[in-house]
Amino acid sequence: MTAAPITERDGRHELLRLATAGSVDDGKSTLLGRLLLDTQLLLSDQLAEVSRGRDGAPDLAALTDGLRAEREQGITIDVAYRYFATPRRTFILADTPGHERYTRNMFTGASTADLVLILVDARAGVVTQTRRHAQIAALLRIPHVVVAINKMDLVGFSQARFDELTADVRDLARNLELAAPQVVPISALDGDNVVDPSSRMPWYEGAPLIEILEAVDLVADRDMDSAHLRLPIQWVARPANGGRRVYTGQLAAGTLSVGDEIVVAPAGARTTVSSVQTLDPERDTAVPGMSVAVTIADDIDIGRGDLFTAPDDVPPAARELDTTICWMSEQPLTPGRRYALKHTTRTVRATVQAISDRWDPDTLEILAEPSGLELNDLGRVSLRTSSPVLADPYRRNGVTGAFILIDEHSNETVGAGIIREAREVEQAPEARRDVTWHRSALDRDRRWAALAQTGATVWLTGLPASGKSTIAVALERQLVAAGRAAYLLDGDNIRHGLSDDLGFAPGDRAENVRRVGQVARLFADAGIVALVSLVSPLRSDRIVPRRLHDAAELPFIEVHVDTDVEECARRDPKGLYARARAGEISGFTGVDAPYEPPERPEIHIDTAAVDVAGAVEQILAVLPDRAEDRPSLAPSPLDWD
Ligand code: ADP
Repeated sequence: MTAAPITERDGRHELLRLATAGSVDDGKSTLLGRLLLDTQLLLSDQLAEVSRGRDGAPDLAALTDGLRAEREQGITIDVAYRYFATPRRTFILADTPGHERYTRNMFTGASTADLVLILVDARAGVVTQTRRHAQIAALLRIPHVVVAINKMDLVGFSQARFDELTADVRDLARNLELAAPQVVPISALDGDNVVDPSSRMPWYEGAPLIEILEAVDLVADRDMDSAHLRLPIQWVARPANGGRRVYTGQLAAGTLSVGDEIVVAPAGARTTVSSVQTLDPERDTAVPGMSVAVTIADDIDIGRGDLFTAPDDVPPAARELDTTICWMSEQPLTPGRRYALKHTTRTVRATVQAISDRWDPDTLEILAEPSGLELNDLGRVSLRTSSPVLADPYRRNGVTGAFILIDEHSNETVGAGIIREAREVEQAPEARRDVTWHRSALDRDRRWAALAQTGATVWLTGLPASGKSTIAVALERQLVAAGRAAYLLDGDNIRHGLSDDLGFAPGDRAENVRRVGQVARLFADAGIVALVSLVSPLRSDRIVPRRLHDAAELPFIEVHVDTDVEECARRDPKGLYARARAGEISGFTGVDAPYEPPERPEIHIDTAAVDVAGAVEQILAVLPDRAEDRPSLAPSPLDWD
């Protein structure tokens, strides 16, 4: 069997990243030992020699960067990276333990792999773990799959058994939409079909394992379409001689050459590439995986985390991510929690909005609406980020489509994820119809003038028992007494009759806030002062009602009723803190769910310093006057048609 020749000029493609998968006793260590032995014992600690001895592989260090970044991030995984080489190719193998509870290792080890090598014990056949690992390989879209049926010596080198297992493996791959596997019968112990062809399985017509690995075409895997350019900027350097700024990073997709027109996202500035330097001095076009240093024609303000893209293919500046996450922490992932999200060279904050499903690790069935993800769980999670990430779906790009979640207190990596879809913050459909609203705004002025009213929404947010309702009730009373149409939309009243369960199901809280926002907007449009008293703990949720009002040109007054959590627990008129602290209620804001105070509320009320009457006064001071007080808006009969 002859493998496609790989030239020295394409040295970077010689390096193949392998992940192994399989069950505990399938003989992985033996196979690894055999590979190392038969390929001249190039052990991991001889890496330096590997790169020094191979002029064609100058990118070795750059290619292992991803692995190093994981380790530096303090990830506690047991993935051992081993190196071995043949005259044609260098291999990095992520050796992941095969125990049941080590999905996260597999996920991390495999997320950068070009190929997954699945081992199957010829006696045991395809077992749960084989299926599980195959599923992760499918999820991560590892482009190449090789299945080694090991311990063929223990089944008498039976062709029938091999054929049977090959059929099982192909079925599995088809079901999971995994890349079509190449299947090879081996005996790792004796070395049959590992590096040397086996004389004991003359019926096998394929190549030994190592030749299959050598022949894998990695060039075809890379997205080399210059129209798909993705270069996340890692560093910006200004040379000492005062020359042009140099932008460096590792190319994630496309190619980059001098003269290329590019767009710098998220700012959107267009420019032209003046120079491209790679580690290979003879190269002037960079391809994916390469580290590059670039200068551009224009003086643009560019920082770490910005992205060079092709002009016609700029990714959305996304704040909503639909993801699949592999959870790696003992502390479960639950809705409402916040983490640092590291995506390419950019780190932002992310809030868990909802967990829509979880895969049962044993049956691989999908369980809907779980309360959380536990260690080693895989699940579908929607995230909202504090600032935009320039993301692609993972199926399009494994670099710009992947991220890790970091606990900000411990600085530990707690999850690894892939992006199914990245969206800019979803605008409520009404918000896109500014024109319609503007037209009806004229009618609104007439209506308000006719009623002698002016609509507005006062949105009181704060911890439970902070005093929102008390202040809102007092404000309503005072407004009505003064002849203003005002109406209290209290969170408790809105949910009244729904369920006794105080916790929200995943995603429901955000929807509840949106609906209350929409109802308040209708009230305000009708000329009523809508008083909303709603905990609405998340900034990302509260932005929705504000946008709804902005789009409709209606006043929106956010009031932060600020009371220390201990003071709230002390007041606790409904006894809810006590119940939450006793564990009778879960997901209770202030006890086991976070409250994010508004950053720039229209009004901040410190209830320790201001009494209820004072709070009402503060709000009245900014509330627009009623229409009656604005004679210019008084109805004129001529105006009506
Ligand atoms: P929320 O609506 O925020 O859950 P409530 O208004 O139902 O809170 O409860 C707040 C409790 O705190 C009430 O019993 C109220 O009398 C008391 N309280 C004490 N001081 C203040 C204040 N300055 N402003 C508002 N409420 C206060």
